[in-house]
Amino acid sequence: MTSGKNEKTSILIIYTGGTIGMVQRPETGTLAPVKFEQILKEVPELNKFNYNIQTVVFNPVLDSSNMNPAVWVKIALTIKKNYNSFDGFVILHGTDTMAYTASALSYMFENLDKPIILTGSQLPIGTIRTDGKENLITSMEIAAYKENGKSKVPEVCIYFDFRLYRGNRTVKRDSEQFSAFHSVNYPALAVAGVDIRFSSEFIYIPGNKGILKVNTKFDDNVVILKMFPGISEKVFSSILNIPGLKGIILETFGSGNVPTVNWLINCIKKAIKKGIVVLNITQCEGGRVIMGQYETSLELLNAGVVSGKDMTSEAAVTKLMFLLGQGLNNSEIKMYLNKSLRGEISE
Ligand code: ASP
Repeated sequence: MTSGKNEKTSILIIYTGGTIGMVQRPETGTLAPVKFEQILKEVPELNKFNYNIQTVVFNPVLDSSNMNPAVWVKIALTIKKNYNSFDGFVILHGTDTMAYTASALSYMFENLDKPIILTGSQLPIGTIRTDGKENLITSMEIAAYKENGKSKVPEVCIYFDFRLYRGNRTVKRDSEQFSAFHSVNYPALAVAGVDIRFSSEFIYIPGNKGILKVNTKFDDNVVILKMFPGISEKVFSSILNIPGLKGIILETFGSGNVPTVNWLINCIKKAIKKGIVVLNITQCEGGRVIMGQYETSLELLNAGVVSGKDMTSEAAVTKLMFLLGQGLNNSEIKMYLNKSLRGEISE
């Protein structure tokens, strides 16, 4: 086993923005991004790795609330362009939408055999108590880690607060704690303590290894509709009737349940008849959708709603946008939604 700490290891850091590289603006008191060189100056420890570290800085750097599919594509194409020259990639990204970006990237890359590690921080890297240093340093080490000459974690991951997670299983759960992320339905891929302990059995190794392929098309004609007690027919039906809508993520109660009122199921049937794909995702942090377990989900099953099983909303909405962008027909989209593309769903 080798830790990847040798002269030849090359890591590309892609700085997209986020708190990790922000400072407080004296005029307004708000946090805004700073120059990347400043970040590297704050972490001289990186030089001790003896890696070849190169950086790409996005312009503009973003608070990740401003992320969108065009930036996902920009990240993916940056990695594609540099793929053969580096052993691994570390993406510095705001925490707010990191789980969406990680999910989207996971679908975009086919035959990935190098690590893409997203990280960031809750406190800017220039502050004394920052969590950014540890997050960045260990992400670099994981991105470089090899076993028998091969990358240990050839996945799109999020590393945060001593845990490495599969990116498309991760959710931002806290806006204050350093443990900002969790992955309830899938175990951590590694835990960093005195050693970095990998759980090899949970790491995704693509079976069919071909040349790296990057799919860059997304379709944004989708909506997430969260159910709540008291949702009205007027609100529900106007969302389902958005012109051009192609996909709906229905965030349902418990194991996939909705109120048993006729207008609701009729609206859904009409939408499905029009060719809109409806995907059922649970509002719960853990567990899965099992349509037909209760009376309150049987009608959805009969109407042709697709089960999102144990996918997160982040993984589901990016997957739907991705599949709709691939020019597939309706039944192909439904089939892929239900299947694992990159380990985002338990089959
Ligand atoms: N608003 C910031 C962002 O997502 C929060 C963070 O980075 O933690 O860009």
